[in-house]
Amino acid sequence: MSVEPITAADIAAARQRIRGEVLRTPTMASPSLSERAGQPIHLKMEQRQITGSFKLRGATNAILSLSDDERGRGVVGVSTGNHGRGLAHAASRAGVRAIICMSALVPENKVAAIRDLGAEVRIVGKSQDDAQEEVERLVGEEGMTMIPPFDHPAVIAGQGTLGLEMLEDVPDLAEVLVPLSGGGLIAGIALAIKAQRPQVRVTGLSMERGAAMAVSLEAGRPTLTPERPTLADSLGGGIGLDNRHTFAMVRDLVDAVVTLDEGEIAEGIRHGYWREQEVVEGGGAVGMAALIAGKVRPGGPTVVLVSGRNIDMQLHHRLICGEDVDLEEAAA
Ligand SMILES: *Cc1c(COP(=O)(O)O)cnc(C)c1O
Repeated sequence: MSVEPITAADIAAARQRIRGEVLRTPTMASPSLSERAGQPIHLKMEQRQITGSFKLRGATNAILSLSDDERGRGVVGVSTGNHGRGLAHAASRAGVRAIICMSALVPENKVAAIRDLGAEVRIVGKSQDDAQEEVERLVGEEGMTMIPPFDHPAVIAGQGTLGLEMLEDVPDLAEVLVPLSGGGLIAGIALAIKAQRPQVRVTGLSMERGAAMAVSLEAGRPTLTPERPTLADSLGGGIGLDNRHTFAMVRDLVDAVVTLDEGEIAEGIRHGYWREQEVVEGGGAVGMAALIAGKVRPGGPTVVLVSGRNIDMQLHHRLICGEDVDLEEAAA
């Protein structure tokens, strides 16, 4: 099956479409990381986005790209994390009905967070698969539109708007460091940047525990990896064996993928708090973590994307107080 490629023009159009609905977050120099890396390092402060992560950009672009008929029937999703939050907020702003399906095992605070953002929550069964089945029923029987978290052209184009902002803020940009899970974020950013400045190096950062895209790139095709508890929980999950867009885009556009262990990610979170005075979740801290661990050595001015702040604040507190937290041991 052929897939229409996503273009730089789609990202420019997304920027117009979502303007006014999402924050244009600042890019700020980090003196301490610049000193450490020996190059100017800037942080793209997307953890300050409404809903606490960049996922609002893609969700907003996807919802505002629907036809009137599709809007009338509403949207569905399964995410209980940042995508669910973004989708709930974007739909509510646009006056579009949103149903987020989740299993009965999802903790009450996550359910409440999605509900507070204006979405209906439908609790179905005891697993993610049961929730997925309900989504398929709502799509098939009620004509609702499923908005996936990464493998969707409008979502990728929405995330790509970050790349345009990075180029504007740091015109002599040489390198960008981007958290990587399903790849919608880095695919959009790499496309936006390389269309204008092909020589800019784009590096993806994942956690060692369950780096689905890294494993898939290694295998040459979308591949399953066991999911494991990690501080970078928003980077969990697979890329989909039937991946249509992000696998090929990441393979073709991204220069390197680097993985980080739990201790390194914890250091990234601590650095964000103590040196940058920002609350950053594990998945948002991997760029800072890679610089601190010396796993990425920039050759010029670099933008580190800080992608989100939605961390359990008890966990955050323990980490910044210096505790070594192993979520896998805790789950065992
Ligand atoms: C979803 C998410 C990512 C990864 O985005 P992908 O498009 O899945 O690669 C990174 N950071 C945060 C905070 C996220 O919520």
